[in-house]
Amino acid sequence: MQIPKMDPAGIRYLTIHCAATPEGRVHRADEITRWDVDRFGQPSYHHVIELSGIAVRTLDDDQRGAHTGGHNTGNIGICYVGGMDAAMKKPKDTRTGAQKQALLRLIGEYRARFPDIVVRGHNEWPGVTKACPSFSVRAMLKAEGIGEPAPGGLKAKT
Ligand SMILES: [Zn+2]
Repeated sequence: MQIPKMDPAGIRYLTIHCAATPEGRVHRADEITRWDVDRFGQPSYHHVIELSGIAVRTLDDDQRGAHTGGHNTGNIGICYVGGMDAAMKKPKDTRTGAQKQALLRLIGEYRARFPDIVVRGHNEWPGVTKACPSFSVRAMLKAEGIGEPAPGGLKAKT
């Protein structure tokens, strides 16, 4: 499988996604990756967070993802399993407590390494009409006291 390289020194964005799978249904990260390889020819995300809160590394930071149309260079993608209601009718924030914790931990790690990194939901990118990741990343960052990038970086509350 040919995965394009990406210079980690150019990482500027971290984009949060959901897998658009129904609430409570277990999917392993390797399953999500297999779907992405079938559809896009490569793994889409750098990390996939399973319902248990286990975050599986699915691409290295020097590999370019395939998760935000036209904006994958310098953009780290994190996907949590879930994001739809059980009936697959409506987008829903289905994150388990363990998934929320894992997401904040990963965001904290990237902000420590890349103090200027901009964290966004997929739906905050211009021209994106889908609901992904089915919650407001902006509101989450605010609630967690993670503000705009600052010199030295800010870390998620633990
Ligand atoms: Zn997405």
